[in-house]
Amino acid sequence: MIGGIYPTICLINHSCLPNAHNSWNSDTKGETIHAIRHINAGEEITISYDKGGPSDSRRTHLKDAFEFDCNCSVCSLPLPELQIIDARRLQIQYLDDAIGDPNRVMERPDDCLADCHSLLQVLEEEFHRGASIARLYYDAFQMSITHGDQARASVFAERGYKSRVICEGGG
Ligand SMILES: [Zn+2]
Repeated sequence: MIGGIYPTICLINHSCLPNAHNSWNSDTKGETIHAIRHINAGEEITISYDKGGPSDSRRTHLKDAFEFDCNCSVCSLPLPELQIIDARRLQIQYLDDAIGDPNRVMERPDDCLADCHSLLQVLEEEFHRGASIARLYYDAFQMSITHGDQARASVFAERGYKSRVICEGGG
């Protein structure tokens, strides 16, 4: 892993529901920030430092790695609403793990693609846009290539590319 400190970017706060995505641009040799949802005038720009999962595991990670207690718009929701979001984040984690199992990809490709579809729906519902959607299309692309499904592979490649451009620019 490559780490870096960027004088402006390190001032951007974390949110568990960020409105922007940061990525390294190897062409310009600089870190870039792209909006992944509409940002109102005066609204704080936020990126995600967390590794996903429900609020308790995000909070533990953020405390351990970055030494702060997350009080973002998600983490400060009343408990009943937070529990609904936690259930969705757990489902995302579960589907992500299932899709990442290489044996299952080889043995039950149709189940894996069905999981990709379910995961896409939850991710879009939860985040609208983001890097995890681009990565998911890439996973689906690789699964299709592995099983010789060129037609699906090219659809997923194109959608993955468009999602990536939203997060990282280019195109
Ligand atoms: Zn949070």
